[in-house]
Amino acid sequence: MSLISPIINREEPMRVIDLIKWAETYFSGKGFDHPRAEIEWFLQELLNCNRMDIYLRFEEILSLSQLSTLRSWINRRLEHEPLQYITGFTEFYGRKFIVNEHVLIPRPETERLIDIALEKITQMDSPTILDVGTGSGCIAITLAKESVNSDISAIDISKSALKTAMDNAKQMDVKNIHFSHLDILEENFLHPIDILISNPPYIPKNNMNVLMRDVQEYEPLFALTDGKDGLNFYRKFSQIAKSIVKSGGWLILEVGSDEHPQMAKEVFSQSGFKNMRLIKDYNGDDRILIVPTK
Ligand code: GLN
Repeated sequence: MSLISPIINREEPMRVIDLIKWAETYFSGKGFDHPRAEIEWFLQELLNCNRMDIYLRFEEILSLSQLSTLRSWINRRLEHEPLQYITGFTEFYGRKFIVNEHVLIPRPETERLIDIALEKITQMDSPTILDVGTGSGCIAITLAKESVNSDISAIDISKSALKTAMDNAKQMDVKNIHFSHLDILEENFLHPIDILISNPPYIPKNNMNVLMRDVQEYEPLFALTDGKDGLNFYRKFSQIAKSIVKSGGWLILEVGSDEHPQMAKEVFSQSGFKNMRLIKDYNGDDRILIVPTK
C-alpha cells in the first residue's frame, strides 16, 4: 500500500507549483527539516533541470508517469533513504556523479580538499597522485578533470565502489586515472607519488550511534568508520608516507569533528612530521590536514 497522501495518487496530471505546495506540507508533516529541498531534489531529476529552472517551469504539467516515479521515490524517502541514492546521482565540484549504496555520498566539505590539492598541483609539472578510498571516485575524477597533466591512482577496498568510480570516470571521459583494488591497511602501494589525498573512514566506532538515521542505515559502514578510534588510517598514512610520498610532496587528508582534527595532527607529530596545517571548511570547522613530507 502506498504511504502517500491522495494528492499525488490521483489519476490526473498536476502542475509543478501544485506539487511543490503539496510536498512542502507533506514532508514537514512527516518531520523532515527541509521539506522544500526534498521536493526540489526530486524535481531536478524528474525534469532534468537545475534548481533555478524549476521556478521557471511552475505551470508545467507533470505526466502520470512522472508522478508514478515520484510516488515510488517519496515512499523510499519516507524510510529515510538518502535523496542521492534514490535518484542515483549527486553533484560534486560542479559535476554530476553516479552514487549508490556501495559508496559514500560525496559531501560539500570534501570540495575543500580539491581546492587545496589544486593549489599544490599548480606548482608541479605532472604530479603523481594517490587517492586512498576513492569511493564514487569524486576526488580522483575531479582532480583528473581539473588537472589533465596529473597521473592519478585511485584505490579502494571495495570492488563495488571501484566499479562505481570507473563508471563515473567513463561517463566523464577521464583517461588519466588507474583504478585498483587495494586495502591500504594490509597491502603496499608501490609507486612513488607527489600527493596522497584521502577522505578516509574517520568516524570513531563509538560515535556511530549519533549519526543521522539516513547515514547510519544506508551509507556503507566501512566508508564511514574504521571500527576503532577513527585514527587508524592516519596512523597508516604516517607510517607509509616516508616511503611512498616523495620529499617535497604532500598528504592532504580530510579530518572529522571535535577533537579529531587535533588528534589526527598529533599522529603525524609523533611520527616526526613537522609543519602540519589544519584548514577550515566553509562552516568554520577544521576539516583538512595538510602534511608536508619535507
Ligand atoms: N573519496 C570518497 C569521498 O570523499 C569516499 C570516501 C570514503 O568512502 N570514506 O566521498
